Amino acid sequence: MKDQERRLTLEPTEGSSPVGTADEAVVWKELLYEAGRRSRVEVEIFLTAFLGACQAQGWSDLTALRRLVGLEDPDLYRAILTGNLPESFPEALRTAWSAFVRRWSARRDDPTPSASDLAALQRTGPLQAGEWVLLIDAKGRHYLTRLEPGQNFTFHLGSVPMDAIIGQTEGTALRSSKGHVLLVFRPTLRDYLLHMPRHAQVVYPKDSAIMAMWGDLYPGARVLESGLGSGALAMVILRAIGPTGRLVSYEIRADFIRRAVRNIERWLGYIPENHEIHNEDIARAQVEPGSFDRAFLDLPTPTDGLPVATGALRPGGILVSISPTVPQVQETVEWLRASNLYGSIEVLEVLVRPWNVKGHSVRPAHFMVAHTAFIVVARRLRPGQSFVDDVYI
Ligand code: SAH
Repeated sequence: MKDQERRLTLEPTEGSSPVGTADEAVVWKELLYEAGRRSRVEVEIFLTAFLGACQAQGWSDLTALRRLVGLEDPDLYRAILTGNLPESFPEALRTAWSAFVRRWSARRDDPTPSASDLAALQRTGPLQAGEWVLLIDAKGRHYLTRLEPGQNFTFHLGSVPMDAIIGQTEGTALRSSKGHVLLVFRPTLRDYLLHMPRHAQVVYPKDSAIMAMWGDLYPGARVLESGLGSGALAMVILRAIGPTGRLVSYEIRADFIRRAVRNIERWLGYIPENHEIHNEDIARAQVEPGSFDRAFLDLPTPTDGLPVATGALRPGGILVSISPTVPQVQETVEWLRASNLYGSIEVLEVLVRPWNVKGHSVRPAHFMVAHTAFIVVARRLRPGQSFVDDVYI
């Protein structure tokens, strides 16, 4: 059978799977999770090629899939990333697979974004079914929802049929069934980050905005990140580095990775190929020395990530670490100084004070977010330099 015809889809319908029974559906689900760390298209190609090679060996699809998901995490990564299947797989299969992965990496290095990547990033024109929209009521309350044909958006001031929103232009004022006005826009990344489901504490937009600038993210940058958490900071980094950049995230909790991947995909409409996620303790990560331009840490114990991040950064690279409490900041800065590998260490916090402007009442708002976190920024030195910053002495 030709590759095209056998091509597997990653969207099995509810209760069914490409390989049949309920038991197989469980295996399939696990694979989908692994797939979440790669681009959908690449994993479809991977599974198609992998199962094709397995069938040539006389293995059923189920046996092959079981073997694959039964691998320990590091083995699975090695198999997917480098093409080295463990010895428990027949040799012919190992050879076929490593040849395939070699071709695959060549394609992954092609930095040209696909048309669908660009379409998702540059949405303009009439609102379409399946898109996220932000609805704002007269009191300035925000509601984030996805446009589903035939459904209603319902809130405490009535409802609006989604069919009445689909096809509208952004900036349209709609009326709810109870006569209340709602403005409709496409959400900004900031809107999405504040509304998306989260596990861990996310980096707030006010902080990630500064982190992106102080950390000098640029299109094409190679960035190391830990932990991934719910993916909020990762989305800001991905946007700033663009499709030609590369983000490698280390996260210790598999369930957080699942949520983060879902959050990222829900926002972008696809899983970015230039985002590599490792379910691993950052302290144990194997990273090529000097192979990253920037390192972003958001860890309960920043010193867990500092040795690897420091090894990973090239001279002139920038480390950005965010922590909610003073002892974490103190430990981070002490570690950076003691390492003798950083200069220009800055510590800051970001206070955003909203204002009320109505008639003669022009004043700061009564309430503001008083504290989220402190940000530490430092620049990696060339090894062997002797430098003591005397700013704080
Ligand atoms: N920046 C994230 C939130 C990170 S919360 C966001 O914006 O959504 C901190 C994360 O670090 C948690 O998800 C936690 O599981 C992870 N973590 C803690 N210790 C770790 C370690 N040693 N290696 C990798 N990840 C770790």
